[in-house]
Amino acid sequence: MEDAAAATADVLAALAPSWSAAVVLLSYLAYLAAAGALLPGKLVAGAVLPDSSRLHYRCNGLLSLLLLLGLSALGVYMGWMTPTVVADRGLELLSTTFIFSVIVSFLLYYTGLRSRHQSSSLKPHATGSFIQDWWFGVQLNPHFMGVDLKFFFIRAGMMAWLFINLSLLAKSYLAGSVNRAVILYQFFCGWYIIDYFIHEEFMTSTWDIIAERLGFMLVFGDLVFIPFTFTIQGWWLLGNKMELPLLASVANCIIFLIGYLVFRGANKQKHLFKKDPKAPIWGKPPKVVGGKLLVSGYWGIARHCNYLGDLLLALSFSLPCGASSVIPYFYPTYLLILLIWRERRDEARCSEKYKDIWAEYCKLVPWRILPYVY
Ligand code: NDP
Repeated sequence: MEDAAAATADVLAALAPSWSAAVVLLSYLAYLAAAGALLPGKLVAGAVLPDSSRLHYRCNGLLSLLLLLGLSALGVYMGWMTPTVVADRGLELLSTTFIFSVIVSFLLYYTGLRSRHQSSSLKPHATGSFIQDWWFGVQLNPHFMGVDLKFFFIRAGMMAWLFINLSLLAKSYLAGSVNRAVILYQFFCGWYIIDYFIHEEFMTSTWDIIAERLGFMLVFGDLVFIPFTFTIQGWWLLGNKMELPLLASVANCIIFLIGYLVFRGANKQKHLFKKDPKAPIWGKPPKVVGGKLLVSGYWGIARHCNYLGDLLLALSFSLPCGASSVIPYFYPTYLLILLIWRERRDEARCSEKYKDIWAEYCKLVPWRILPYVY
């Protein structure tokens, strides 16, 4: 009993936000803003907005990531920082980032409401309900000093996910506890994140970028939820020795591979289709409904096959932790709920946007995510 109370007190003490954590966070964000503005990268045109305008995104996330990895390695080599700095201060960084995301979302709410712009990106979409407007945001694409904040926060969250994991790996290494489970977990997540940055331009045609306004939900989701909860398996492996049998490892790799092929393949097919509706899919001319919706490839198997691939990937990130605890399964469980909810919202949006064409698509492709099941 006393032990539990002491452990709780330790966690609460570690959760106290600090100025040093704020310096780490702000330096990280300042680096990303500078790298995003200065480093070369492909300029990708975003979706056509209701007022016919288009934003342009500089996709230099991979270069920004590689440079930051190089700078961090140099910092560790020169003894300016320890490789475990993020893992050592995980809870402190979590609470500080949370406070930052609350402040940013209030600023977005107030500046959004005062906006007099009429462009689709900056026009205020206020419902009058404070909670709803603060949570979902008021503007579609707010920016600060020339930085598109929505694209910026997603990048920051995805990169932080990798840096927390690498810091956990360094901690495991120093503790002599790197084993097959740790290697698989690190490899799968590392691959997913680096692949995300290799294909960063695909992000410009996703729901978050096209349709969501920027409010607390996205700011918190990107800056706090992604990096700090998607790494739960890494924290768990740090405190629990997991001997993963060879057969289980092979099965885990197969789930990862199938998930990756479906996830990446589906997102790529949609992205290519949006750029060139005649581009071949699996070597054949694409089948299209109403000239606008792709019915070939993964998009002819289920209406959101990309979600299925993502769910398999999420599962593969947790399987290295075995079955002794549900804690490492937080991410796939959360993702299942999120993607089912999101699929319903996307369905409503597409049904309103495409009307009869969407109804025809649903007839041709009756399955939402998993063929013959859902
Ligand atoms: P999608 O990339 O599936 O985008 C949905 C949009 O695509 C629709 O609104 C519609 O937009 C267009 N569309 C739908 N069906 C078709 C079709 N048949 N042909 C052409 N266009 C179509 O959704 P998300 O942005 O939600 O997801 C992108 C990826 O991000 C997914 O792989 C998802 O798993 C992942 N993700 C991961 C999360 C995580 O926490 N790990 C969270 C959220 C997403 P339009 O109006 O442009 O036609």
